[in-house]
Amino acid sequence: VSHNNSRPVAVAGGGIGGLACALALARHGFQSVVLEQAPAFGEIGAGLQVAPNALAVLEALGVTDAKMNCLAIDGVEMFDAVTGEKFIDIPCGAEFEERFGNPYAVAHRSDIHGALLRACQSSGLVELRTDSHVAGFEVSNGGVSVKLSSGAIENVAALIGADGINSQIRRAIVGDDEPLCPGAVVYRALIPAADMPREEQKRHPTIWAGPRAHMIYYPIRDQSAFNFAITIMNAELAKRGQGKASREEAIGALKLHHEIPRHLISIPGEFGRYLLRYREPAANWTLGPVTLLGDAAHPMVQYLAQGAAMALEDAICLGECLVESKGNFAEAFESYQTIRIVRSARVQISALMMDKLLHADGVERLVRNSMFMGRTPGEYYDRLSWLYTSPWYVR
Ligand SMILES: Cc1cc2nc3c(=O)[nH]c(=O)nc-3n(C[C@H](O)[C@H](O)[C@H](O)COP(=O)(O)OP(=O)(O)OC[C@H]3O[C@@H](n4cnc5c(N)ncnc54)[C@H](O)[C@@H]3O)c2cc1C
Repeated sequence: VSHNNSRPVAVAGGGIGGLACALALARHGFQSVVLEQAPAFGEIGAGLQVAPNALAVLEALGVTDAKMNCLAIDGVEMFDAVTGEKFIDIPCGAEFEERFGNPYAVAHRSDIHGALLRACQSSGLVELRTDSHVAGFEVSNGGVSVKLSSGAIENVAALIGADGINSQIRRAIVGDDEPLCPGAVVYRALIPAADMPREEQKRHPTIWAGPRAHMIYYPIRDQSAFNFAITIMNAELAKRGQGKASREEAIGALKLHHEIPRHLISIPGEFGRYLLRYREPAANWTLGPVTLLGDAAHPMVQYLAQGAAMALEDAICLGECLVESKGNFAEAFESYQTIRIVRSARVQISALMMDKLLHADGVERLVRNSMFMGRTPGEYYDRLSWLYTSPWYVR
């Protein structure tokens, strides 16, 4: 396959962001090598919300089977876990799709990641390598030397750090410390639809918002399974770190009193326990022919379900900038950062602010309910427009 660059671009990390980036480059004739530290390409975790702006990127990248693996949902409902009243109801049917160009969808993470992987494998311009942990890099005249933990050196034209929240490459560019932990844990599980009460088998995400905790569940894979995530603000629990957690631990931790969430949490036999982590927006994430993408650049709390969507948008933007700069990597990365930094930082900041909405207590809770109750679909769409409307470079 002919290509524009004689030396490849190295992409550190083969998550959703790294693979989408390699594809976005290939789409414009740039060859890359994806260096993934794990022994195999894959995704951990189960469900992923795929908002219309994320679907638009998958479409633009031509990853049609990723879109086919998604389940379009018909709305989003949020309930007050103290009283049981519904205070948010956003229909996501035809009117939503017309407004944002795509439906709101949900999927199994591995179905999206797998579709991106297959597209990379068949592109002819992406070399995929496992067991390749990037330990550092040096910018030299006209390129980058990428150091692997094995001691091997890769001489490449440019380096894109898509190596997630603990990014090695970020360390050298941004130099901030460990990610911030606000003292919260997320219990996640996937359960077969057969184990889910009939009345909760809805074709949309349901959220129970309570004081210092919330629960979300939604169907995936033709509604054959439900993805569960329960976030609990509790510094003591957070000290336990990441790992497996028993049903008893989760039940003991969830202080929501409403009978529905209390019943639902007793369904999964076991949970995965994750720490909530994020970083403050960085003012710069680029150094000449080296830049960051996805969680490496702008890791956020998951409350807006937009981390993967932002990684996908980054990828397509970076590809467009490279075309614009006619293959000058440093120039392309500079304009990519300029274009992406405000939008991604706005999502990082907005996601943090969702804490108020999801975990309000006392009078704040009453204020929250009164603010949202009775909003029309059009009012919701107007407020979500900045987020779900695809930027111009997604095409
Ligand atoms: C509980 C939870 C729920 C979420 N829900 C949603 C949602 O519904 N919708 C949504 O859009 N987003 C969601 N997100 C966010 C989303 O998961 C992330 O933003 C997204 O996966 C980031 O992708 P990435 O490719 O940038 O990083 P990652 O997925 O972290 O991938 C990084 C890759 O790099 C590899 N790597 C790391 N270091 C190195 C190294 N030094 N050398 C080589 N390889 C390396 C890793 O092994 C990994 O494969 C959620 C996050 C959480 C925690």
